[in-house]
Amino acid sequence: MKIDLHAHSNVSDGTESPGELIRSAAAAGLDVVALTDHDSTDGWEQASVAAVEHGVALVPGMEISCRTAEGISVHLLSYLHDPAHPGLLEEITKSKDARLTRAQRMVSLLAEDYPLSWDDVIHHVAPGATVGRPHIADALVAAGAVADRTEAFTAILSARSRYFVQHYAPEPAFAVELVRAAGGVPVFAHPVASARGRVVGERTYRDMVDAGLLGLEVEHRDNPEAGRAFLRRFAAENGLFMTGSSDYHGAGKVNLLGENVTSPAVLARIEELGTGCRIVRA
Ligand code: AMP
Ligand code: ZN
Ligand code: FE
Ligand code: FE
Repeated sequence: MKIDLHAHSNVSDGTESPGELIRSAAAAGLDVVALTDHDSTDGWEQASVAAVEHGVALVPGMEISCRTAEGISVHLLSYLHDPAHPGLLEEITKSKDARLTRAQRMVSLLAEDYPLSWDDVIHHVAPGATVGRPHIADALVAAGAVADRTEAFTAILSARSRYFVQHYAPEPAFAVELVRAAGGVPVFAHPVASARGRVVGERTYRDMVDAGLLGLEVEHRDNPEAGRAFLRRFAAENGLFMTGSSDYHGAGKVNLLGENVTSPAVLARIEELGTGCRIVRA
């Protein structure tokens, strides 16, 4: 069984439609894939249809943008939540709207130094999709400023760059509470990915556990080995399960489907704990 629990479609900042993503998952030999677009579940329906067609099981999911009071970015994966839960829906809608304003602010700053307009960025965003820095990166590539998204992130768009602007996002423990209230299974995504920016200390992990956190994404290419040792210890001490995933973004990132996987036992646990919706099987 090959299980990959973190992948994006063009409903956020991946490059493939939800249907194409499922086709890619089948081609990569996956048995199970989770669709986890940023702050949106709009891809679930199309992915479900494709999952049945291609014989891949789909775990409906989402990646929720969060930020601590100190301003550190945290990503929370949610699996099998009720997509219509009002409290959760309200928060992700706030984040999604704030992401749009934030991207526009970043583009105004960038336009002082690069041949870039808001229209150039929107050109790379599928209708209704959650806007992110990768879409700005695509416009910078098209403008010839950088070779690819990766170069755009290292050279221009990083959290340390002068063009970087933050957007509204709920605190991690609050997001965990909302996911549980919606019947979902909350998993802390790439918790020690220090190359992306500052990472949280143990206090935040404890707050998230108290709020109902259930798992940690340990096997992820952005988690350095030293950090993984901490994660394994913390998970064992706090009764959390551990996942492994690719964080696939189609052609937008080097990450390949199935490059990290989750055990069938952990998937069974997620299925048992998630009550907001069901895994889609052929
Ligand atoms: P944002 O959500 O707008 O803050 O942008 C962060 C998103 O960009 C996350 O989904 C990351 O996976 C993605 N990202 C971060 N670094 C890179 C990179 N080097 N190349 C492509 N995408 C990236
Ligand atoms: Zn993404
Ligand atoms: Fe993430
Ligand atoms: Fe992700």
